[in-house]
Amino acid sequence: MSALRVAVVGAGPAGMYVADALVLPREGSAVPVQVDVYDRLPTPFGLLRYGVAPDHPKMKMLTRALQRTLDDPRVRFLGGVQVGTDVTVDELRAGYHAVAYSFGASTDRRLGVPGEDLPGSRSATSFVTWYSGHPDAPADDVDLSGVRTAVVVGVGNVAVDVARVLSRPVADLRVTDVPEPVLDRLAASAVADVHVLGRRGPVQAKFTVKELRELGELEGVDVVVDPADLVLSAADEAELAEHPAVGRNLELLREWSQRPLTGAPRRLHLHFWSRPAALEGDGRVERVLVERTRLDGDGRLVAAGAPSPLPAELVLRSVGYRGTGLDGVPLDPATCTVPARDGRVLRDGAVSPGEYVAGWIGRGPVGVLGTNRSDAEGVVEGLLADAPALLARPLGPDPVALLAQRGVTPVDAEGWGRIDAGEVARGQALGRARTKIATWDDLLATARS
Ligand code: NAP
Repeated sequence: MSALRVAVVGAGPAGMYVADALVLPREGSAVPVQVDVYDRLPTPFGLLRYGVAPDHPKMKMLTRALQRTLDDPRVRFLGGVQVGTDVTVDELRAGYHAVAYSFGASTDRRLGVPGEDLPGSRSATSFVTWYSGHPDAPADDVDLSGVRTAVVVGVGNVAVDVARVLSRPVADLRVTDVPEPVLDRLAASAVADVHVLGRRGPVQAKFTVKELRELGELEGVDVVVDPADLVLSAADEAELAEHPAVGRNLELLREWSQRPLTGAPRRLHLHFWSRPAALEGDGRVERVLVERTRLDGDGRLVAAGAPSPLPAELVLRSVGYRGTGLDGVPLDPATCTVPARDGRVLRDGAVSPGEYVAGWIGRGPVGVLGTNRSDAEGVVEGLLADAPALLARPLGPDPVALLAQRGVTPVDAEGWGRIDAGEVARGQALGRARTKIATWDDLLATARS
């Protein structure tokens, strides 16, 4: 039987879990599978490498499992290939029996308030990219000089990540792979106050208790919570009863709201019922106009009074990720996701044979890394059920041969292995376990060395 050839677009956790589920031995299925995993970066693992906070080593350990999938002889890594430019989606659809899109949600949502684009205001995602040593974010991309007060807008786990990285002693990050120039800038930072703004109440906050708890354990940081923000309405109590896990967030917040300040050098203020009405400053952010909020009789969020100024030199907008299109792939403009039914891509409302979607670009930017595993398994179950029909279609030109004709040389698993080894070697030379290779030129040169 000829092999089912599948292209996966995006080598982040979602794409790697699709590849893993495809090669997983399963009862009753004798279809041999060959999987090509494409990524625009020369490195695999997407947000696991460039999104999961460097000081979350347990989560980073998932890299080992994903690497095992990449080591499977039926899985091929094609890094540094821009699908849509180097090879088109139509060419992939012609050259493979199936294509699974897992290119994530790569951009940030907008706040929609005046002054949002002033220098000094940036998306939290770009800050994460910077401290993660992403090659699109040069080390001098973030300037913390002169920043004493930072405001983080949003109360999801990304907000917690960036607030923690801004506040924690830089020595804690030396044991991670954060690039040296980034560490230098964090070490020189004089940030003393970080204000995190949640536009709704503590019951509606999106962060999870494990992540929240870490904020209270940072050395040299006092967490400040106003007990008045923690007073619950009857509607909050009802919501809490439905989501008991949120109760643990509340317990922590209540404990912190009672803690006396210790005079620590840094303070992390968690505010609820507060949102930015505008960002202001002369040529760059100098203050955030913070508006108190409340729910009106119809449950809509409205202003509860006139905004008051909060001086701040840095604003990190952490209000969620947003999916963007890929040429040749449908995108629902309302949800910024690829329209699909049970993981099968829809074109004009009908299932498009041989096209699948997994991860954030399919379900939206929600869920933790592990969510992608069950998501991918579901998608692959459908794909394998479709295999007889997919295999019946003759294939067009091999996209890998097309790349070669165009002079595009993908970074393969060995090339990635050289980057991996290079990061360990460079880290060890500095007395660290590893440090990220953080520029395109350096990554490509190391891959091809
Ligand atoms: P998120 O969980 O969707 O949180 C976004 C936050 O932004 C919410 O508090 C939201 O408030 C707020 N927001 C949205 N629009 C706003 C506006 N216009 N003004 C003010 N606030 C606004 O997004 P995320 O933090 O980017 O996380 C994305 C996903 O990655 C989540 O599933 C998260 O759990 C996951 N993640 C997990 C980890 C981890 O496990 N350690 C780490 C990072 C990320 P409303 O609720 O009022 O809309």
